[in-house]
Amino acid sequence: MQKTIGYAAHNQNSPLVPFNFERRDLTATDVQIEILYCGVCHSDIHQVRNEWGNSVFPMVPGHEIVGKVSQVGSKVTAFKIGDAVGVGCMVNSCRVCPDCQDHLEQFCNAAEFTYNWPDKHLGGSHYGGYSTQIVVDQDFVLYVSDKLELAAVAPLLCAGITTYSPLRHWKVGRGDKVGIVGLGGLGHMGLKFAHALGAHVVLFTTNPAKIEDGKRLGADEVVLSNHSDQMQQHLAGFDFILDTVSAPHSLDAYTALLKRDGTLCLVGLPDHPHPSPSVGNLIFKRRRIVGSLIGGIQETQEMLDFCAENSITSDIEIIPIQQINEAFERVLKSDVKYRFVIDLASLKS
Ligand SMILES: [Zn+2]
Ligand SMILES: [Zn+2]
Repeated sequence: MQKTIGYAAHNQNSPLVPFNFERRDLTATDVQIEILYCGVCHSDIHQVRNEWGNSVFPMVPGHEIVGKVSQVGSKVTAFKIGDAVGVGCMVNSCRVCPDCQDHLEQFCNAAEFTYNWPDKHLGGSHYGGYSTQIVVDQDFVLYVSDKLELAAVAPLLCAGITTYSPLRHWKVGRGDKVGIVGLGGLGHMGLKFAHALGAHVVLFTTNPAKIEDGKRLGADEVVLSNHSDQMQQHLAGFDFILDTVSAPHSLDAYTALLKRDGTLCLVGLPDHPHPSPSVGNLIFKRRRIVGSLIGGIQETQEMLDFCAENSITSDIEIIPIQQINEAFERVLKSDVKYRFVIDLASLKS
């Protein structure tokens, strides 16, 4: 067992505080990673505050992990000490079910998520990336290109793949008109990817202060979604809309903007349901509302490689871990451009 320090919540009302725990000794197929940076995902806050009702404490959050390999098990061939690597939202799955066979481990019934999930090796819960090191099976470790700034890669492991996967699955590309709803951690990655894939990209936001940034990040147009005249101009105009907003809101305003057979894809998970959508909006033009959950390991690697080729990373603000509780409050106020990333050197000194 290996002594590790992290930051944990001890109940749903407590701030994150320093926490000592142990990682398992390496099995033959394990990789030990010295964590250098970890992104702060909105779902960390949902889980720390038990807003999805499944939280187990103490909880060390963090599933946007990048670092360097510090040790490898005897049968690890894919990684060597010193490699730059990442770990996202999953650390294991069954490997044999139809979902795993199709490289869609995120849908495996036995998928193990990176934290707040039962740990089959040690009992208790998996502990995440707000910590100095992690031990993960090699099949769930990803290569990171040394062309990219490591801290700015961290958010790709959740915010990146969550937006890349649906854009690829629904085959967004040149000639498509694509909407991105919300400019936060997910939305800013959605803009970059949709732009890089060659689509005509429209950002929907309620905040006029975000117009300029939206254009800088890849939007061809910005629509203020609370101005109905601006929304009216885009009726039945979109092939695909990616809705990244997790606060409950009406979906009808967006389904009305889809062309025949257009798709509204939801990737934000609200703690209370959205209002029931208008069925008429769906059946009259055979439109559909779909959801998407991160991406499989193979596709996550493809996304990281795509980012290396296209020089795409996240826009980040680096913080020491001692500022994490303040950072949570700022995320809730959308006061971050566009992802906080914890520099774990602050936990080692
Ligand atoms: Zn996340
Ligand atoms: Zn499986």
